[in-house]
Amino acid sequence: MDKPIYFDNNATTPLDPEVLEVMLPYYNEKFGNASSVHHVYGREAKEAVEKSRKIIASELNAKPKEIVFTSGATEAINLAIRGVCDQWMEKGRHIVTQMTEHKAALDTCKSMEKRGWEVTYLTVASDGRVDPQQVLDAIREDTVLVSIMHANNEIGILQPIAEIGTICRTWNVYFLVDAAQSFAKLPLNVEALGIDLLSATAHKIYGPAGIGILHVRQRNPKVELTPQMTGGGHEHGFRSGTSAVPLIVGFGRAVELCAEKREEENRRLSILRDKLVDGIVAEHPDVILNGSKEHRLPHNASLCFPGLDAESLIIKMKGIACSTGSACTSISLEPSHVIRALGYDTELAHSTIRFSLGRFNTEAEVSTALEMINKTVSGMKESLPSRRLTS
Ligand SMILES: *Cc1c(COP(=O)(O)O)cnc(C)c1O
Repeated sequence: MDKPIYFDNNATTPLDPEVLEVMLPYYNEKFGNASSVHHVYGREAKEAVEKSRKIIASELNAKPKEIVFTSGATEAINLAIRGVCDQWMEKGRHIVTQMTEHKAALDTCKSMEKRGWEVTYLTVASDGRVDPQQVLDAIREDTVLVSIMHANNEIGILQPIAEIGTICRTWNVYFLVDAAQSFAKLPLNVEALGIDLLSATAHKIYGPAGIGILHVRQRNPKVELTPQMTGGGHEHGFRSGTSAVPLIVGFGRAVELCAEKREEENRRLSILRDKLVDGIVAEHPDVILNGSKEHRLPHNASLCFPGLDAESLIIKMKGIACSTGSACTSISLEPSHVIRALGYDTELAHSTIRFSLGRFNTEAEVSTALEMINKTVSGMKESLPSRRLTS
């Protein structure tokens, strides 16, 4: 059997062959340690790392020295939250975040609560967005950090980052943005948006897994945080450990390619996404597109199939690789915390499927998938004991 159509690009994206190509030499002939300054092997590696750092910084309108390489977005978020808390515990022990954050942020906040910090978890409206006024209301004398993601990984909804950035700047609170789903796919300017800390990861943008960044603002204001990994003082002292040169090289190339292709790719993917959603809704008008229609990633469709169990639906659609919530919550079998936050009950939350398209999806795949989805949904509806559930 052919492999299923890959509609799970929010979980991870395939490596772009152009990215792999620039990485390969750094696995063999250019194998040097980027910290070995005394010979050409080390200098060649160092140069490659700094080139990527520059590309990534420029994508964010940041300075190269503000980019800290980590193993991924999870580590970057941990460094940001734990690092700020450890550094500023004399100033205050209060964090503001919101309920649809990725588990990397939520679980780290929970872990800070166990250590005595207070966390305010803001609710979102039924469109999935945080009201900036709520952020303002939640900020207190002892607030050290506001952590609000840019694009949600399950529903693809974009948060009002610019407005929240202005509030944080006015009230002198650090602003962390988890941009794992949007970095390089959407333009992000940390200056214009008032962002102090930003996390991103390569494996969501057609780069390799195992490499990410934390952007750490160095002026107006200079963000001070306590390193969570100590050792050789790599990455301006923020994150020790030998640089993963091939991964960093791949990350840089992935960002370049995303930036080059951005407009065209987003246009193409939003057309494909709409074709998929409209095609499903035309046949099954009870299907709900979750969250704001306007403020969303162009390639993301999170759909509710009222009355149907998403797990069973996914298992029946063998030809499509997609997921219920995020890849992480799927393992736990709990209904997604993101869908619940939209105000849905448990049953509706259990009927949600995320289709996330990407660079390598074709129009033909969308047509094939559409047929498969509609057929499977019709079949499942017919076998329901009664239509009671769909009312
Ligand atoms: C994927 C993802 C993460 C985690 O990134 P890793 O690099 O896999 O650790 C964090 N936040 C969001 C929004 C994500 O989509």
